[in-house]
Amino acid sequence: MSSADEQRRVGVESCGVPNVNRERGQRQVFCGLAGIVWLHRKIQDAFFLVVGSRTCAHLLQSAAGVMIFAEPRFATAILQERDLAGLADCNQELDRVVADVLERRSDIKTLFLVGSCPSEVIKLDLSKAAERLSETHQGRVRVLDYSASGLETTFTQGEDVCLMSLTPQLPLLAEGESSLLVVGTLPDVVEDQFARIFRDLGIGPVHFLPPRQSTELPPVGKGSRVLLAQPFLGETARALQKRGATLLDAPYPLGIEGTLGWLKAAADAWGVSEERLREVTAAPIARAERGLARQRELLAGKRITFLPDSQLEIPIARFLARECGMELVEVATPFLDRQLMESELQLLPSDLRLTEGQDVERQLDRVREDRPDLTVCGLGLANPLEAEGLRTKWSIELVFSPIHGFDQAADLAELFARPLVRGALLQV
Ligand code: SF4
Repeated sequence: MSSADEQRRVGVESCGVPNVNRERGQRQVFCGLAGIVWLHRKIQDAFFLVVGSRTCAHLLQSAAGVMIFAEPRFATAILQERDLAGLADCNQELDRVVADVLERRSDIKTLFLVGSCPSEVIKLDLSKAAERLSETHQGRVRVLDYSASGLETTFTQGEDVCLMSLTPQLPLLAEGESSLLVVGTLPDVVEDQFARIFRDLGIGPVHFLPPRQSTELPPVGKGSRVLLAQPFLGETARALQKRGATLLDAPYPLGIEGTLGWLKAAADAWGVSEERLREVTAAPIARAERGLARQRELLAGKRITFLPDSQLEIPIARFLARECGMELVEVATPFLDRQLMESELQLLPSDLRLTEGQDVERQLDRVREDRPDLTVCGLGLANPLEAEGLRTKWSIELVFSPIHGFDQAADLAELFARPLVRGALLQV
């Protein structure tokens, strides 16, 4: 066995749960800056100031697309060459840029200083800068910092580190009170659907993190029960646990089965009966089943491979296999957080080829050998695979589209059916 093969050792896992191949090597994924695109849409009074290079500015612009109708609430303070020589100038320049942003944008209540590879390399201390700027602009704006550098984060981890920076700011939930805290960015329309279901179940009060307004941060404390809406928020979950919250063990609300299991975890914690859960969910489940039927016809029997990118791979693979009849060739995820993924792993076939980490060349070789009907991957790998006649799906679409909950189950399936339909048309 070669040393590279040794690195891909097969882990010893508990019975019924797939073995995990661990791969280490070159990765090809976006950095955490991409998270700003969906975070700035959600937190409507927040501004994200990336302290980085022109490359960072380009990445952000291309990930966000061109925003014509709204003044975007993100920008890049570009580090110039002379900044690399003197940090004092750099801090002065940062203070000037922040003052400028705040003067122009009276609606901004929280400003995130977002670290990047260049700011890390020159060791610009953004937490000190955030402290200094918070003092300077006290009463006007809250200034927080986090690092989304590609040295430390993959693209969905950007949300995790952002929410973690908010966690110490959350007010304390009063002793003796309890609440449900749903964690992870959801489009407002999906958040409203879930809020209605929780209300009908008699579960409450329910808070969402991140909130729509940064001035309305949800409380956290011993009585908080946390339901993660996204599987890539491990550090935030642990920070909330340190503040006394209890993490509910549940699958993720993707597809009918995942959404029902997710709601059931909250229902169990609030002592809601199975019968009531069935009553409240019957209509949206019936709607979702009708919507899914057509997509299932297109997807059943098709073979799919996931390359590691978003950390959404496992719950979505579970949905596509169990509810859409797809065959999982390989499911790879950048990180496998056991604590957060336990309920999902139980639902995967025990003989699944499950990979953690990436050695991009080896993985591409496997895709070429397997020739799945569809490969889910990052933008950078999609074009070369398409050029080889393989159909692909960009994983970044999964964080830009409403995919959670019963009413979005068919839309989620359609995201995968579309490239297959297009591919079939091209062959005609
Ligand atoms: S943070 Fe690093 S990886 Fe991300 S765009 Fe900037 S230079 Fe590139």
